[in-house]
Amino acid sequence: MAPRRRPAPLRLRPGTPVLAREGDEVQCGTDPRWAFVLTGLDRAEAAWLRELAERRHVPVEQVAARYGVGVERRDAIVDVLVRAGVLVPPPAPVGTVVATADGAADAAALGMLRPDGAGLATLAARARRTVGVAGLGRVGASIATQLAAAGVGTLVLHDPLPVQTTDLGLGGLRPADVGLPRHEAVRALLAECAPHVTVEVDGVGRGDDLDVVVVAESHAPQPARYRRLMGAGVAHLPVVWREADVLVGPLVRPGRSACVSCLELGRADEDRQWLVLASQLREAPEPPQETTLAAVAAALAVGQVLALLDGLRPATVGAYLEVALPSGLPRLVPVAPHARCGCLALPD
Ligand SMILES: [Zn+2]
Repeated sequence: MAPRRRPAPLRLRPGTPVLAREGDEVQCGTDPRWAFVLTGLDRAEAAWLRELAERRHVPVEQVAARYGVGVERRDAIVDVLVRAGVLVPPPAPVGTVVATADGAADAAALGMLRPDGAGLATLAARARRTVGVAGLGRVGASIATQLAAAGVGTLVLHDPLPVQTTDLGLGGLRPADVGLPRHEAVRALLAECAPHVTVEVDGVGRGDDLDVVVVAESHAPQPARYRRLMGAGVAHLPVVWREADVLVGPLVRPGRSACVSCLELGRADEDRQWLVLASQLREAPEPPQETTLAAVAAALAVGQVLALLDGLRPATVGAYLEVALPSGLPRLVPVAPHARCGCLALPD
């Protein structure tokens, strides 16, 4: 069978390990989602493929010729590698990237999630996005710095309360920041460690130009905030801190998935006193945020936001993640739309 015509030159998908196995077999990748073993190779063909991993900038055909691999065998093997997604087209130009090290930290792993391997294109798309973060204690500050590192172009911060000593040690705030408004302290921190990210302060309630808003708060959700976000059609993710656990989600896509009010109505069904309890909890002082729980919750929240921005389906649409000490392992709990909420009747 004649080999398929291909646009040249192809390159090895960035970040793919190419490993020698016994009997001139070659294994590409280690992640079980895409790793595979190429068998039936001779010694020269195996050496050619391993060389591809060493010299990623050299065209595939050029390396094959040097190892004396014939054109027919070369094209047959290349076809297998293209079908397996190991060989991808050269990168197309992308727009501005603001992630750490111009994307060098994240591009290879993100490229593994795309057919074209172009992780930088994912990062360029993130650079055009705007994310709000309200509540900038340890969890919120950590979420903001992670979103900046991951390449979100604009962050809109809101938390005018002063930085406490208990906010330090995670997220990057320093002793000199204690007493400053949290959103000013985080803005100054980001200006230093993520200078290409645009940071605005105190505009989370400004309207519908935000792609998603993360709301980090304590004890129980504050309904008024979510009503505004629902009204503006802005996606949002509550991160609710309790005594020794934290709930991340549900990630609400207004009119398309169960909302915070659905969750609250479900709680009231389970405990008829819930609304009485919730109103007391909303008045209670903000508790400090324990180190490991805050780190895990922040990373989970950032992962959900980035999945949404990247066009993937985040796990917390219609569910929340519950993380409790001492395990720190997330448990996914479904949240059904509530019949009395009516949020899914909103127009798209
Ligand atoms: Zn609802």
